[in-house]
Amino acid sequence: MKYIELPRKVLVGENVIDKVKDVASDLGLRGENILVADDTTKKIAGDKIASILGSEIFVAGENALEDVGRLAGKECNYMIACGGGTINDITKLASFRKKIPYINVPTSASHDGIASPQASLKGDKPVSVRAQCPLGVIADTRILENAPKRLNAAGCADVISNYTAVLDWKLAYKEKKEYYGDYAATLSEMSASIVMENAGKIRSNISILVEALISSGVAIGIAGSSRPCSGSEHLFSHALDLICEKPGLHGEQCGIGTIMMACLHKADWKKIKKALEECGAPTTARQIGLSNEDIIKALTMAHKIRDRYTILRNGLSEKQARELAEKTGVI
Ligand SMILES: [Zn+2]
Repeated sequence: MKYIELPRKVLVGENVIDKVKDVASDLGLRGENILVADDTTKKIAGDKIASILGSEIFVAGENALEDVGRLAGKECNYMIACGGGTINDITKLASFRKKIPYINVPTSASHDGIASPQASLKGDKPVSVRAQCPLGVIADTRILENAPKRLNAAGCADVISNYTAVLDWKLAYKEKKEYYGDYAATLSEMSASIVMENAGKIRSNISILVEALISSGVAIGIAGSSRPCSGSEHLFSHALDLICEKPGLHGEQCGIGTIMMACLHKADWKKIKKALEECGAPTTARQIGLSNEDIIKALTMAHKIRDRYTILRNGLSEKQARELAEKTGVI
């Protein structure tokens, strides 16, 4: 059996947050609701949405897991996430536990969790877990284009990482007879291609990136797992999250991982690197403040992070890891 979960309403465009009340009522959401934000995103859009919907505001703190627990203990009919990665994940998990729907209003385009059913929180398992899709997504391009450039560049890199995720998925199908879905894989690949082809234009046209991130989330929803958008490059990023005190952003690490994993797949890693540069995403360890040793250690332990068959198969030796990182200019 396989079940597909997708958001029901997705609004992308300028000033679409003004339509939040219509979206909620179209989705049949009414009554008590809680808006989740942090101090910054509360000012960007949270206060405005809360005044339109009469929401109780929940300001997220330092400990995301604690926030999930506190939020899940509150009474309400639905929730609204207003923020970037962590705010979305907190709301996704808390609403899932309560079996109530949520609307996602992203304030940056930094990862493909915007519309996907997967959630991940650092401190929990380093990998993503299935929770639920937002019932509605309101992606206001006026807000998103004003997000910090670093966050949006990380979003580009997270989409570009679909490239090696799909190669890994095909490999698992070929060598391990794992389930493989053509629709989900093609949608994921297409999102990566569109971002790569338009890498230079994304800063002036954020909707290209937003649509690619939403399509990636939809690919995950269709596949029923993160497979189409998460392969060896994500394992590498999860490994960095475990070993580094101050890791880079999720998308940044995945992008750097994609360059190296594409090289292992004997694919065109130089094309990946060029596209990342054009998006303004980092391509070296030093750019995100990581040491050569961090990269090598993460490469050698990535295959043990979770049970997912990828090009890393039984893992890389330290020598192989160093050679790979040096050849691709990551270190
Ligand atoms: Zn990702």
